[in-house]
Formats: sequence, C-alpha cells, structure tokens
Amino acid sequence: MSTNWLYRLSWKEVETYLETDSRIIIPVGSTEQHGKFAPLGTDTLAAVAVAQDASRRTGVLVAPPLWFGWSPHHLVNPGTISIRAEILLELLYDMLDSLARHGFTNFVVVNGHRIVNIAWMQIAAERAQRRLKVRVALFDLAYMSREISSRLGFGAIGHAEEIEISHMLHCHPDLVNLKLARDNPHKDQDLYHLDPRDSRDSLCYVPTTVEDLRRVAQETGDTVSGRPRRSSAEKGLRYHQHLVKRLEQILEQMNR
Ligand SMILES: [Zn+2]
Repeated sequence: MSTNWLYRLSWKEVETYLETDSRIIIPVGSTEQHGKFAPLGTDTLAAVAVAQDASRRTGVLVAPPLWFGWSPHHLVNPGTISIRAEILLELLYDMLDSLARHGFTNFVVVNGHRIVNIAWMQIAAERAQRRLKVRVALFDLAYMSREISSRLGFGAIGHAEEIEISHMLHCHPDLVNLKLARDNPHKDQDLYHLDPRDSRDSLCYVPTTVEDLRRVAQETGDTVSGRPRRSSAEKGLRYHQHLVKRLEQILEQMNR
C-alpha cells in the first residue's frame, strides 16, 4: 500500500485493506475565520495533521476530511463556510453508512473544530452504532489534550488562541503571520466556563452570535479570543506529539 489516504487508493486496494483491518480515521474540521493572521482551514488542517501522523505510524486508513463545520458565529468574516448542524449530522452519518457497507466497523472521528462540532457528531455516532452495529469513537483535540495543555501552561480555550496557533506554527508555519496577531485575553464569565480543563460549575455551550463577534472586532481589532501572541512552534510540536500518541492508543484499543 503506497499511502494511507483513502482517496488515493483504488477500490481494489481498499478491498485488500479490509481483509486485515476494519479501522478508519475521519478528520473533521471547519472552514472559518481564525483572525487576521491564521488560515480559514486551521481546524481541518489540525485534524488532518494528527490523523496523518497517527496513520503513518499505524497503517490505518484516513478518509477524505470533512472541511466544513458548524460555524454560524464566524460568518462575521468573509471566507467562512458554515453548514447547518442537522446537515452535518446527516453527512457524517452517510459517510459512516457508506464505509460500513463494505466492512469498516471501527471509526475514529478526529475533530479539529472542538466544542462546536461535538453535539451533532454525538448524534451521528449514536445513530451509526445503533443502526449499523459499528463502533465510533469521537476524538476531540481539546478533550484529548487536557493533560498536555496544562503541562504547557496554555490558557483557556478560546478562538485562534495560543493552543491552536502553536499547533499551526508547528504544522503549517507558512500559513501563520504572527506579526498581525492581537491578543484578546479571555474574559471570565460568571457560571460559563467552556474549557474542558475547567472544573467549575458551568452552563452548557451555545455558539455565540455574529453581533457578539462584531462587537469583539470593534473593541479589539480582530475576532479572536485568547492570547495567540504566546504561541510557539515548540509548544505546538509537544501538543501535536501528545495528540498523535493518544490517537495511536485509541486505534490500538479498537484493534482488539
Ligand atoms: Zn479553530
């Protein structure tokens, strides 16, 4: 097998793969604004980078990435493409259904769009497990990096903050222009703390509004939440290695 990307293989090669393996990784991200200094594809590129490196080490196939996520709030800036959550749910389910038909039974969905994509992914995964009798693991970059993010001293999860920008500086430094980045330190909100590392009582997540983000842009000069200027490629590398190792562990568990 020359590569682990499904789209590069013939159906015959996929058939051969299925004789000995039933696992596949599906990277999912978004196409949405990430400030004036980072690419619209940040979330998808992050999921793809982790999926690709874990695939190289395990030989597990990677499905074509889903470049879109649920991003209604990020429509504040041009280039953002937001797909409705109910459509994304059906899209992911149809991907799982198609692949399950020929023998894929163990799926790991790698989510680079963090908390916003999780709700519809959970519904699609539950439906697939019940109807298709397959196993679907949801591997979210934020939930799966709580330990390393604390060790690296990363601040709370926001948007285009030091966590995902460090990761981009490691994976795609040519696509980030940190000179244009402005910090917008996370404002603590009463009883609303969305970082998976936070242990305080919190309301559940609801995507913010375009109007809210427009206000942020007026006040701070960009639509960012967090401190991207603290990003570094070195931290990004350690964060990336941690995620790849965790993904390998999940793939190994699914092989038993
Ligand atoms: Zn992002």
